[in-house]
Amino acid sequence: MPQGSGRYMAWPATTRYGLSVAPGNLGLVQDFLNTITEGTVAPPDLLATLSSAQEWADKVIEQWISIDDLGWAKTLPRLTERDRKALLAFRDDLFEGLFGHSHSETVSGPGRDNHTYRPLMTVSAKGIELRPDGEGWKYFETALLLICHQGQLEGILRRMKSCKSETCDAVFFDRSNNNSAVWHDVKLCGNRANVRAFRERSAAN
Ligand SMILES: [Zn+2]
Repeated sequence: MPQGSGRYMAWPATTRYGLSVAPGNLGLVQDFLNTITEGTVAPPDLLATLSSAQEWADKVIEQWISIDDLGWAKTLPRLTERDRKALLAFRDDLFEGLFGHSHSETVSGPGRDNHTYRPLMTVSAKGIELRPDGEGWKYFETALLLICHQGQLEGILRRMKSCKSETCDAVFFDRSNNNSAVWHDVKLCGNRANVRAFRERSAAN
């Protein structure tokens, strides 16, 4: 048995918001995005310091290894300050790519690689496969993109959403039948908007 019974561990960042977890490896992408501080409860941004980023990384990799059914999860090198900054910029890119808006103002500068990623393509008796590739944490970023790409093909990526609130970007997985949820938490973020809509409807009657 691995130490800590990883299978039963929760995703460390998403758990802070008590949110519905995306299935399988997509939970890793969701957890990475939820390292942000959202607007209402406002726990710290887990990538804000090297020590908190490393603490998150240790937990998330352990969890990834325990649920991984693609054979992609692996232990990664200890984070450097350069890695941490690259992850912050990548997180903004991913918000942009998935939800059409950045989380924070993207800072470009030293430490930022270009925005291209090279997966590895293999052909064998198992078929044609795309796998993540790259050194260090670039491997992690490529894995997240491939997981998103796979989710896109399977049609489940559109259920992963960033809260509609202007001050909150918490990322939740929408399990409603018609994929219509817009708030990460109706009480925290939806309530004010819902009350306003109700008043507008009442006034119109
Ligand atoms: Zn929210």
